[in-house]
Amino acid sequence: MKVNLLDFDAAGLSAWLAERGEKPFRARQLLRWLHRFGVNDFGQMTDIAKTLRARLTDEAEIRGPLPLSDTSAPDGTRKWLLDVGGGNAVETVFIPDETRGTLCVSTQVGCALDCAFCSTGKQGFNRNLTTAEIIGQLWHANRVLGAVKQAGVGDSGERVISNVVLMGMGEPLANYENVLAALRLMLDDNAYGLSRRRVTVSTAGMVPAIDRLREDCPVALAVSLHAPTDALRDELVPLNKKYPLKTLMAACRRYLDNAPRDFVTFEYVLLSGVNDREADAHALLALVRDIPCKFNLIPFNPFPGSPYRRPSAERIRRFQEVLMNADIVTTVRKTRGDQIDAACGQLAGRVLNRRLAAPRNQVLHSLMTA
Ligand code: SAH
Repeated sequence: MKVNLLDFDAAGLSAWLAERGEKPFRARQLLRWLHRFGVNDFGQMTDIAKTLRARLTDEAEIRGPLPLSDTSAPDGTRKWLLDVGGGNAVETVFIPDETRGTLCVSTQVGCALDCAFCSTGKQGFNRNLTTAEIIGQLWHANRVLGAVKQAGVGDSGERVISNVVLMGMGEPLANYENVLAALRLMLDDNAYGLSRRRVTVSTAGMVPAIDRLREDCPVALAVSLHAPTDALRDELVPLNKKYPLKTLMAACRRYLDNAPRDFVTFEYVLLSGVNDREADAHALLALVRDIPCKFNLIPFNPFPGSPYRRPSAERIRRFQEVLMNADIVTTVRKTRGDQIDAACGQLAGRVLNRRLAAPRNQVLHSLMTA
């Protein structure tokens, strides 16, 4: 079997080349071809010796994801369904804005965490994505969006993808090693060269992994909070039973010692009649009292079969006001791409293998007792 070069971060690629007697600068050259210029043909790598190119052709390949569909919404949001083999597929979403282009990347086929309000969670869990499959989403989007001619910069001279958020399908910190290698590539100047502040890992609260990330590769951190009390959060985010709020808040504080931004972002999905009372907002204030943070409120995005409803605009505004009055920067996430089911929590992809999905509680159980 050939190795897929998209599976390597810089260190991995250097090691692989060193085993073949190649110098470290070859890794830098290769990274640039692979990621900056999005090349998938060794023949185009003109500054790499012919002998090495021949050897690469023998032993390696550059295998990006295969798009099964490519859908655009009127607001410019674009969604790709990417084949990851075995009948499974994951989704990647590009969200252009006036000032930036954000790519929302998936990290697992399905998700084992089973949050009550999340469509991905309802699909069950199949497997972790490989590093190649994670970074491949950025690689693919850059190529399709025409950003590979000069290092991620499009014709207009602006960075087409300026921000990456690991907020697609899956729990990034439950796929730690592969996500870490992908993050390193996103930051690597020879690859995507993104600023740490513009790469965001979103987690439902895997506390030990938050601590590891702080040491290994601190990037912007978003935590899916969704409830001010353990009783409610246990229901909405079952992982809370393993890492309750007190533990999670302590991890957020520790993270800030190394974080590239001086705040944590708390995501809070607003569910009508469940967690959207003004009293809930006040309880949140008490909870985050000593953590520099911003809030990003996400009005619930419905999906088939979901029991929840989105609160009225007025209720959302009142909730936001309580937080703002306490001087916490609070944004309401604009619903983008919902016409193509690309909004938060609507990514379902295609997750097969119900053999694994059935004992999902076991997967969750093993996660929680790990
Ligand atoms: N597992 C990670 C990454 C997913 S990010 C995490 O939990 O943070 C996706 C964000 O969308 C999370 O904050 C998630 O809680 C939120 N979300 C999930 N389902 C949603 C829905 N139906 N409507 C709005 N937001 C949702």
